[in-house]
Amino acid sequence: MSEITKRKEIPKYKIIFLGDQGTGKSCILNRFVEDKFDDNYQATIGLDFQSKNVKIDNQDVHLLLYDTAGQEKFRSLIPMYTRDANIIILVYDITRKESFNHIPDWINGLTNVNFDNVIFALVGNKIDLDDKREVNKDEGIKLAQEKKCIFEEVSAKTAENFSELFYKQLFDEIVNKFKPGVNGNDNEINDEDKIKIDDNTNKKQEGKKCCK
Ligand code: GDP
Ligand code: MG
Repeated sequence: MSEITKRKEIPKYKIIFLGDQGTGKSCILNRFVEDKFDDNYQATIGLDFQSKNVKIDNQDVHLLLYDTAGQEKFRSLIPMYTRDANIIILVYDITRKESFNHIPDWINGLTNVNFDNVIFALVGNKIDLDDKREVNKDEGIKLAQEKKCIFEEVSAKTAENFSELFYKQLFDEIVNKFKPGVNGNDNEINDEDKIKIDDNTNKKQEGKKCCK
């Protein structure tokens, strides 16, 4: 109980990963949380959850990271998680144009999101496969500007540009938008998340991820 009370004083931000299946959402999440990559592909089923404590602007911050399955049949679950999202990371695969073309559909599907209160990031993944590239960086930059997103191209495999995306661009935007050092914790965390944090802090749920 006292543990939970203590944690409630730390600012918490809920990050949701969206995008087509196979774009590398689970691998990006694992690279960020555990700094690991595993080539063995296993589709995420439903929704997966991990958390990570970081320092932003000298303030301890608790990030709750929700991984979604891209399959059509699980899309009905997504509004439950985007409802109170603070950060939405839209992922496409630079070697698969179709996944880029679907980004506006993912954004249009966010009917219950207050866009003014959410940080959006557009992320083109798999830049280690540059010879198979189907989406130019300029196209990504243009879409990000149109949709008011942070933009970065990364590789979950090699970790290229991860620092730039998370520790620079995203954390700077968190400071600008949410002022964690000033406001403390605005974000009440629900009971379900409390249980998950206690059980799963910095651990992934069993058997659902592509990456270890
Ligand atoms: P998700 O369905 O969006 O969660 O995609 P996954 O994270 O499961 O990744 C789908 C496939 O792409 C897997 O085979 C991964 O190994 C592969 N993958 C993910 N990120 C990268 C990357 O940065 N580079 C390369 N070459 N493959 C990647
Ligand atoms: Mg996945």
